[in-house]
Amino acid sequence: MSLSMINSDFKSSDNPIISEMSEMGHDQILFCSDNETGLKAIIAIHDTTLGPALGGTRMWSYSNESEALQDVLRLSRGMTFKNAISNLALGGGKAVIIGDSKSMKSEALFRRFGRFVDSLAGNYITAEDVGISPDDMVWVSKETNHVVGLPGKSGDPSPVTAFGTYMGMKACAKLRYGSDSLNGKKVLVQGVGHVGEYLVEYLSKEGAKIFISDIHQDSLLKVSSSYGAVCVALNEVYDIDMDIYAPCALGGTLNDDTLSRLKCSIVAGGANNQLKDEYSHGKLLMDKDIIYAPDFAINAGGVINCFSEVEGLSSNWALDKARDIYDTIFSIVKRSRDEHIPSHRIAMNMAQENIDAAKKSL
Ligand code: NAD
Repeated sequence: MSLSMINSDFKSSDNPIISEMSEMGHDQILFCSDNETGLKAIIAIHDTTLGPALGGTRMWSYSNESEALQDVLRLSRGMTFKNAISNLALGGGKAVIIGDSKSMKSEALFRRFGRFVDSLAGNYITAEDVGISPDDMVWVSKETNHVVGLPGKSGDPSPVTAFGTYMGMKACAKLRYGSDSLNGKKVLVQGVGHVGEYLVEYLSKEGAKIFISDIHQDSLLKVSSSYGAVCVALNEVYDIDMDIYAPCALGGTLNDDTLSRLKCSIVAGGANNQLKDEYSHGKLLMDKDIIYAPDFAINAGGVINCFSEVEGLSSNWALDKARDIYDTIFSIVKRSRDEHIPSHRIAMNMAQENIDAAKKSL
């Protein structure tokens, strides 16, 4: 067969995954499977213009493999924007392990995953995300050096993520209420896991009226009794009167259904991929006059903490850098208001400008 015949027969939609990669701008996807340990994972590298792709590994019981693929594609792209808007010399990547984090974890599984990470030769650096603890990462680190967030090093990134989210929330408050004090503000924190609980601690110190929700009853009761937060049933989250909604669980909670119900003036939380559809739901928030702090900009504290480990910088450096999230969110939201463009769009443009500037200087 001649080369011209092959080319004329080729249809770009022959492989939907490659088409999707090219549409979203991904560099590489590694599908990982190991029957012995039961590991099924996907590692997605979105962009490495600014540096090696860094992003956590999530372990979740996805209902099917397509759902896991969609998640890792969106999350890795979000990491590119997050690292770029935070001016870190890092690209964007992410990994998902398909399975129940309560029952499927084993040293063998994480070590096998570590060997897959290692095969990427430093192009992808991993850390923990939902369903993964620093201890799991210790197993990964037995097989690869390309892992951060280890105990005794920069450790759990969640406290820094929560601090940055708190700073970003205060910037939104300043723009909405004229003062960045959260004292007396009704804040609903959805998901009181690693990030959510630390965020509740900051809010409680500042005298906010805190409402919490979680699918795990034990987490809910623990946080409620420690900080006097009021528990809200899962199906009531979008119907209660609140000033600030802080999504700190999984993504997609800002969608057609919830946005028609949500009664708040600010959305500022640590979860990734909060907008089910980043275009229509970002615009809907703006049309409803709800200030939205773009997820990848407000929750960058965790990756800032990981970057400090990559570069050998101190934990104080990480906290100082996370404090800057106040200014970043302030300028995104202000530009969004001045230019009447959804804040998520503004933040994506700002991140892309940093990447384009780096490309020009290559
Ligand atoms: P986590 O697993 O410790 O906590 C998530 C919590 O959300 C759990 O308590 C879980 O029970 C709860 N949850 C899940 N579904 C829920 C639902 N429908 N309603 C209410 N609660 C629900 O994870 P985490 O590390 O705290 O991360 C939370 C979010 O923040 C994730 O979206 C993650 O990607 C994002 N994030 C985390 C970090 C970090 O440093 N850990 C950094 C950036 C972004």
